[in-house]
Amino acid sequence: MHSKIFSATPIGVQAHLVEVEVDLSFGLINFYIVGLPDTAIKESTKRISTALKNSGFRLPAKRITVNLAPADLKKVGTLFDLPIAVGILQAAKFISIEKDFLEETLFLGELSLDGSIRFIKGALPIAYDALKLGKKRIILPIANAQEAALIQGLEIIGVDHLSQLVNYLQHNAIIEPTKNKLFVDHKTIGQLNFSEVKGQEQAKRALQITAAGRHNILFIGPPGAGKTMLAKRLPSIMPPMNFHEILQTSKIYSISGKLQKKSLVTKRPFRAPHHTISQAGLVGGGTYPQPGEISLAHNGILFLDEFTEFARSTIEVLRQPLANNNVCISRANQTVTFPASFLFVAALNPCPCGFFGDKRKQCYCSQKQIARYLDKLSGPLLDRIDLQINVQSIQYETIHKKQNEISSEQLYEKIQNALKIQKQRFGSDILFNAQMSSKQVEQFCILTDTAQQVIKKAFEVLCLSMRGYHKILKVSRTIADLDQSEIIDVPHIQEAILYRSLDNYLERHRK
Ligand SMILES: [Zn+2]
Repeated sequence: MHSKIFSATPIGVQAHLVEVEVDLSFGLINFYIVGLPDTAIKESTKRISTALKNSGFRLPAKRITVNLAPADLKKVGTLFDLPIAVGILQAAKFISIEKDFLEETLFLGELSLDGSIRFIKGALPIAYDALKLGKKRIILPIANAQEAALIQGLEIIGVDHLSQLVNYLQHNAIIEPTKNKLFVDHKTIGQLNFSEVKGQEQAKRALQITAAGRHNILFIGPPGAGKTMLAKRLPSIMPPMNFHEILQTSKIYSISGKLQKKSLVTKRPFRAPHHTISQAGLVGGGTYPQPGEISLAHNGILFLDEFTEFARSTIEVLRQPLANNNVCISRANQTVTFPASFLFVAALNPCPCGFFGDKRKQCYCSQKQIARYLDKLSGPLLDRIDLQINVQSIQYETIHKKQNEISSEQLYEKIQNALKIQKQRFGSDILFNAQMSSKQVEQFCILTDTAQQVIKKAFEVLCLSMRGYHKILKVSRTIADLDQSEIIDVPHIQEAILYRSLDNYLERHRK
């Protein structure tokens, strides 16, 4: 007695087809699962037999062999409980499912001991690839039905108990396919707003440039200056996520098991891991690779506060994802790639005590201490940051001055124009000024003669590297775009030069 059920497993963000074969034969009564299962799958024999018993089915008094094929594919987690249980019921002839139906259907789900079907990780990426795998239908936990229903052209059958599923498969009950109730919130209402931040005009302006050209940014300033408060409001001046972005980011959350409370990620994520985070926590890892913070920030913002406190080795691994917009995690038997395209925001104190250059509090750090502290900064990583800006503590007068602070909506108005200009400029090549190659910088950053004089002087005075020079040009391109100016003029270039404050600071302290 034999049966074959189809299931799938996510590897990275891709789904791979898994055939669940069940064989019942005479011999010693036992229950085996073969085909490279991890411990969760091995333990599933107990769960499955108890769940079957509590749903009114007695496990056949035979030798049960389950094979998960292909054998060389790593299979993780508990989502094979349901296909294995269905395979046993089919092989034991408790139920009889038509061949065509089985061919067209993927089964996923974890079983509770009482037979109820529990939420699983990774339903969305599997649904996403299901049509490509030649399937028309997915039967999965009801808790996962909404996320899977995002995929058009696929029948989603959500079930909450094994006995309910059996009734459905036996045509004794009807389960209506789940329809997607995707609600995308295109308004900024409910989001944090820049109007809640007092003063800090220069930082707000820098963030406007950051959002317009997707430039990574670094804040330098004393503790309590409001660096985190500012960074948290960045999503409010970025365009709403489009369908593709929602899908891509939600897939990552699905794999991490983070979609349980909401069906999709519809707002740009803001991730701010603590500096004690491990390397695997930040970029992803584990025996069966799981996405890290940088992938959870996909299409959103990664904010690293107290940047110098992160372990150097942890910081260094950010280089590859910042350059490629994804992260490759290699394991002995497989390499997994997770998307990781994020706007990078870092913040640091200017010195160990935090108050160097502060107007209110005295800094007692020695020159040597500051130099040692700044040495922790990784040069190659700083190369990925286009804007550097000082954020000063807010003054008493500012707190009490009654003035209307610029709002996110106001900042976004100009950003919208700049995004449109970039779209026309680059076509489908790249999306943002920050991504320009050196060749594109030469092609698109046309300066007036006087602007050229200004950057020439800056090049000499600031001892700019070629890379630093290109960064100033890229940022000035965005500033000109915000101004809707085709050509880059003196004020644009002057403002861009202002955003190299760390370079100056490092220069003064490192020797
Ligand atoms: Zn200090």
